[in-house]
Amino acid sequence: MGTQTKILLDETEMPTKWYNIVADLPEPPPPPLHPGTHQPATGEDFDALFPKALIEQEMSGERFIDIPEEVQEVYKLWRPSPLFRAHRLEKLLDTPARIYYKYEGVSPAGSHKPNTAVPQVWYNAQEGIKKLTTETGAGQWGSSLAFACAQFGIECEIWQVAASYESKPYRKTMMQLWGGEVHPSPSDKTEFGRKLLEEDPKHPGSLGIAISEAVMEAVEDPSTRYALGSVLNHVLLHQTIIGEEALLQLAKVGETPDILVGCTGGGSNFGGLSFPFLREKLAGRMNPTIRCVEPAACPTLTKGEYRYDFGDTAGLTPLMKMHTLGHQFIPEPIHAGGLRYHGMAPLVSHVYDLGLVEATSVPQTACFEAAVQFARSEGIVPAPEPTHAIAAAIDEALKCKETGEEKVILTALCGHGHLDLPAYEKFLSGEITDLDLPEESISESMKSVPVIGE
Ligand SMILES: *Cc1c(COP(=O)(O)O)cnc(C)c1O
Repeated sequence: MGTQTKILLDETEMPTKWYNIVADLPEPPPPPLHPGTHQPATGEDFDALFPKALIEQEMSGERFIDIPEEVQEVYKLWRPSPLFRAHRLEKLLDTPARIYYKYEGVSPAGSHKPNTAVPQVWYNAQEGIKKLTTETGAGQWGSSLAFACAQFGIECEIWQVAASYESKPYRKTMMQLWGGEVHPSPSDKTEFGRKLLEEDPKHPGSLGIAISEAVMEAVEDPSTRYALGSVLNHVLLHQTIIGEEALLQLAKVGETPDILVGCTGGGSNFGGLSFPFLREKLAGRMNPTIRCVEPAACPTLTKGEYRYDFGDTAGLTPLMKMHTLGHQFIPEPIHAGGLRYHGMAPLVSHVYDLGLVEATSVPQTACFEAAVQFARSEGIVPAPEPTHAIAAAIDEALKCKETGEEKVILTALCGHGHLDLPAYEKFLSGEITDLDLPEESISESMKSVPVIGE
């Protein structure tokens, strides 16, 4: 057990392969289905959306996939990312637990999202694609994709959920600075957007709606493809660079985690951190408890159903078997915008269904309280999303204080909150409340979920 605060890796020690958990699962995950026929989707069903290399990764059963050298070169701008031992937080909590966090806020966009944006853009560029469309909620994904597009000379068009387009103007500026074209969603650029604006000119938008708009735009132009920042297998694959590095870093100080907690929106930073550790657990080399932490206002795993559903609101995407609150569910405007998605990654849903990982939910005031403790001890201002994981980590550390157990707790601090200061301002002035989610609103939105096999 080391006492080091910041555990680094040399560039030369950086992992050169992503890890595909599908190769090691006791049961394969259920396949996506064609939205019309309900038959298992084929690679061709995704052709208008993604380049072939990414479709291959999406369906791959291969255990390790090489990270292209050009991608590794861009990764080196901020990777390997540091792993911190939270000595100061431990002291504040007076806990015998040892808390470690992998900090992904060191990337240009300030979160883990560039880990997948860079390879996604690179594979598209290899296949001659000229432009990518996407959606963004809090603006983290849109800015990551715009950054990656600038690296490889590809155009980038982004639909940003209207509510955050208004409330997070600096994310929009970042996207524009990297050359992205940004529209509020719903927008007057697509038929679906125009229909929604007619019904409600002040429509706040949602991730599901913005995905529909970006997909509609991509399928119309053969030199344009669509990029998704979470949920899909290839996205989680790219994010495993986080967990692979963390494994090496913890080994350097002779530690193995007893408990791993990660925030889950679509599941990508959680899958990225936890899947390499789950591999080690399945192989019997360690035995951490692995737990998803989601917002109480968007409790996909803890209150949603495990069913086939669409990834977007208009129902354009293939059907994926996932934990869902229904593709027409519009979550309350909590500040952790990146966690406001109706579904959960099929791979995370599958490992949860198999009982390999656990899930819990936390209301936002508890998250902000944890964030203040974290900022005042560790110094870093966390993005609102990982404050859910911090709250869960603090909870575990306080349990250790009661029992005297010296558990090793690992989490990902998947982004900084420098552009989320308006949310902190509200919290500090006492304006943040917990939004109760009535059961009826879930059962109502579940009615729109297609029934398969009838
Ligand atoms: C997008 C985002 C999330 C949520 O996405 P996941 O796929 O669940 O990781 C969480 N944290 C930050 C900082 C984000 O930008």
